[in-house]
Amino acid sequence: MDTMGAAALGWRLAVAVVAIAGPTVLYLGLWRFLERLRDDALIERLVARGAVDRPRPAAADVLAAAMSGVDGRRCPACGTVAVAGEAECRGCRRPIEGGE
Ligand SMILES: [Zn+2]
Repeated sequence: MDTMGAAALGWRLAVAVVAIAGPTVLYLGLWRFLERLRDDALIERLVARGAVDRPRPAAADVLAAAMSGVDGRRCPACGTVAVAGEAECRGCRRPIEGGE
């Protein structure tokens, strides 16, 4: 302990930083990668063809809603609460006024 040099201390600090921050960086990288893989147009085509059921709100939608919140708008047709910035109803796919 008393003879630990600056190089050894620096190495241990570097290992600690990698061990602490590494899993978080990897998780965020995986999240971004999965968002890039997401293909809404393909899902819409498959739903229109009847090949798959319309997906429930995806995890990315839930996260976006949690981060941006709801802004009080509701779908005029079915009454589904709109997420901030949402241009299309999640329930019936009709356009909602005030979306981006
Ligand atoms: Zn609706």
